[in-house]
Amino acid sequence: MNTEMYEGKAKVLYETEDHNILMKFKDDITAGDGEKHETMINKGSLNCTISKKIFEYLDTCRGIQTHYISSPNVNEQLVKKLHIMPIEVVIRNIAAGSICRRYNLRKGHTFKTPLLELFYKDDSLHDPLVNDSVVTEMGWCNHHQLSEIKRQAHIVHQKMTDYWAEYDLTLVDQKFEFGIDVYGCIMLADEITPDSCRLWDKDGNSLDKDVFRQGTDMSKVATVYNYIHDLIKADSIV
Ligand code: C5P
Repeated sequence: MNTEMYEGKAKVLYETEDHNILMKFKDDITAGDGEKHETMINKGSLNCTISKKIFEYLDTCRGIQTHYISSPNVNEQLVKKLHIMPIEVVIRNIAAGSICRRYNLRKGHTFKTPLLELFYKDDSLHDPLVNDSVVTEMGWCNHHQLSEIKRQAHIVHQKMTDYWAEYDLTLVDQKFEFGIDVYGCIMLADEITPDSCRLWDKDGNSLDKDVFRQGTDMSKVATVYNYIHDLIKADSIV
């Protein structure tokens, strides 16, 4: 019997009898801390398949460890049980979204090197930007763990930048979450999908959740998620 542990905006987590986590991807799509909310047919299975393909790819890359075990159903993944750090690690190649508002930056400004930011994962506080001192002072993780998280985030980010480039897409930015297992091993968790990254085509069109954030036409959102799904599914880089 699986026991429900947590329901988030886009996923439900169950603990399995052998103490892994079954992650069920929901058909919900939200933006603005859940203020904007719709359901989209098949979104759960589209995102689950996209993330499965990407995590399978990352598992083939030397030096990257992830929580991913298998995908027993189209909208479900079995993953390792970890303590998830309450930190969102965002890495940006190009300015878009919150960083443009924060620093009055032009959308499309290219950073000299990938720019890493840390946010405290707390909807009630609107996921505030934090720095290393805040993270360690609050005990969300220690100095050593934080530098390991950053090291891994940069490696995965580079891999994903190259990955999307193979499909002629520009990775603008992405968000990672990391967890720690009972042996103290830090690894990539959560998902990598159009919910958690920004992707632009050659003409600068968004192929990610920005289509939902900025628009009202759910058929356009569905087209984008199906496009990324079909791209990855048909032509595996793994
Ligand atoms: O909103 P912001 O521009 O800071 O988002 C940066 C990246 O992190 C985007 O790709 C966005 O989709 C992702 N993100 C996320 N979950 C959040 C906040 C941002 O996946 N809670």
